[in-house]
Amino acid sequence: MNIILLGPPGAGKGTQARILVEERGMVQLSTGDMLRAAKTSGTEMGNKVAAVMEAGELVTDEIVIGLIEEHLATTKSEGGFIFDGFPRTLAQADALGELLARVNLKLDAVIEMRVEDDALVKRISGRYTCGNCGEGYHDDLKQPKAEGVCDVCGGTDMVRRADDNEDALKTRLMAYYRDTSPLIGYYYAKGDLEPINGLGEIDEVAQAIRAILD
Ligand code: AMP
Repeated sequence: MNIILLGPPGAGKGTQARILVEERGMVQLSTGDMLRAAKTSGTEMGNKVAAVMEAGELVTDEIVIGLIEEHLATTKSEGGFIFDGFPRTLAQADALGELLARVNLKLDAVIEMRVEDDALVKRISGRYTCGNCGEGYHDDLKQPKAEGVCDVCGGTDMVRRADDNEDALKTRLMAYYRDTSPLIGYYYAKGDLEPINGLGEIDEVAQAIRAILD
């Protein structure tokens, strides 16, 4: 199955994608992760997008479509793909349809994760991840068993995203409502939209997604 996880920043797309990778052998294609990797490795493109990302604005369609095209051409996945944080504009959605058709794949579902703004702000302002394995934590909502030590891999290098601050978050939310939320109508009209309540516990949300995929 190939699915899109659609939702505002902090909706839990990355968290649920990790669960799907683990449970179903799906491959997560996160444009945010790809861009952060480009930034960290200091490629020309990474340097170009760094300031845009830090401010919470969207990078150009051309760049993210190029990244997805590259990954689809070079990655095989028996379990299917999870598009996480892509598409974020109508132009990206059109491009994804064309790219999938080119490699003979189809989109099976677009899971819209609904979470209220207040909860998004709370989730984002306290979140951090293990720099080694990527497991996500939160100051109030999900602490590791031993402070500063990852439950999954034992890593002690915890990292916070540069754009998880109040100013950038406002910009990211605006970008979501302005550029990305029209995709809800776009995929509804195509008959692909599956809305779920993203407000519950991680396991509850995972169960709602399983019910759709099964
Ligand atoms: P994310 O990890 O999905 O929250 O993405 C982090 C940042 O990367 C966003 O705030 C944007 O600056 C950029 N980004 C990620 N995916 C896209 C996309 N599909 N279109 C435009 N910008 C993106």
